[in-house]
Amino acid sequence: MSRDRTREALATRAARAGINADPGHGGIVAPINVAATYLRDDAAIPGKFDYARTNAPTRAVLAEAIAGLEGAEGACLTASGMAAIDLILNLLPAGARIVAAHDCYGGTQRLFNARAPQRGFEIVYADATDLSALEAALKPGAALLFLETPSNPRLRITDIEAASALGHGAGALVAVDNTVLSPALQRPLELGADIVVSSLTKIINGHSDMVGGVVCARDSAVLDDLAWWLNASGTGLGPFDAFLATRGLRTLPLRARAQSDSALELAGRLAAHDRVSHVDYPGLAAHPGHALAARQQSGRFGPLVSLEVKGDARRFLEGLELFSLAQSLGGAESLVSVPALMTHAAMSPQARADAGISDSLVRLSVGLEDGDDLWRDLETALARL
Ligand SMILES: *Cc1c(COP(=O)(O)O)cnc(C)c1O
Repeated sequence: MSRDRTREALATRAARAGINADPGHGGIVAPINVAATYLRDDAAIPGKFDYARTNAPTRAVLAEAIAGLEGAEGACLTASGMAAIDLILNLLPAGARIVAAHDCYGGTQRLFNARAPQRGFEIVYADATDLSALEAALKPGAALLFLETPSNPRLRITDIEAASALGHGAGALVAVDNTVLSPALQRPLELGADIVVSSLTKIINGHSDMVGGVVCARDSAVLDDLAWWLNASGTGLGPFDAFLATRGLRTLPLRARAQSDSALELAGRLAAHDRVSHVDYPGLAAHPGHALAARQQSGRFGPLVSLEVKGDARRFLEGLELFSLAQSLGGAESLVSVPALMTHAAMSPQARADAGISDSLVRLSVGLEDGDDLWRDLETALARL
């Protein structure tokens, strides 16, 4: 009897990703299949797998698992999160109008701004948390609305359901970058988006040992277009990285829960500390997007906490030992970064100011270390100020 996966909890489906999927040897986990090409029975008829640029077994296991968690028709896996976002741009005709959240990831803005003159795209950046500003930006008939919520690093919350309705009203495809939360904590397709894109590099893999991306679509025609471009452009994920991300995915719900709980506790303690002037964390009742986040997310608020300290942010950074100074987020290890100098350095100073990213903003990605140990580390570094 085959399982009714639709009735299973997300944790069950994640833990079973690629399990019992080795018909060749009966291995409990799906093997890494490295073949570049696959035998045909008939010269004119490809088998299920034909050439590994198009699709391959190890990639297919992960694609099916993530599509299942997002509630998508299917998924395309790419060599990075940026390749996944670029894949979406292939759906658009020359001259298309794109409306994007003004505080979306710096690398996304760099890509959009570079593609615009090449393909005649008109890119409008808008504050997606302000629905009337979004409606005004969408009005002249946009082809793509690109959202990111919570936004990174200020963790502003966009109402996906309301924004999607505005996007659809203008005739646009609605895509949401779900990297910061992952399907364990938020499922944009259930809220009305057409496409959800994530970096696998971050919390989905969760171990900071591979780079990859994924695009999921609700509609099979959109998915077919994405798959066509994935094959044509050859930017698909390789088998070793697909294997690693599948292994990471099995513990995603557990990690997302533990890291969110730790982040909430640390954010509350930071907000009450006299050397901290400001904390952004959607799990805190004082956060302007708290009620919305509580409603549209899965009851938890993710691993990222941003803060401003009173005094020299660099002195604070130098005092940290359990938070490693490095880009990226969502891994089992805690990281600290200065977005203006690191993840968002590609944006112009004006664009950073518009998005509320000051030069002294510090972003924490809370990992799986013991929460009290992390707090002691933060306290010690704050005491240096
Ligand atoms: C990291 C990141 C990306 C890009 O992913 P890569 O795997 O690094 O290419 C896109 N969006 C967000 C929100 C990110 O944090």
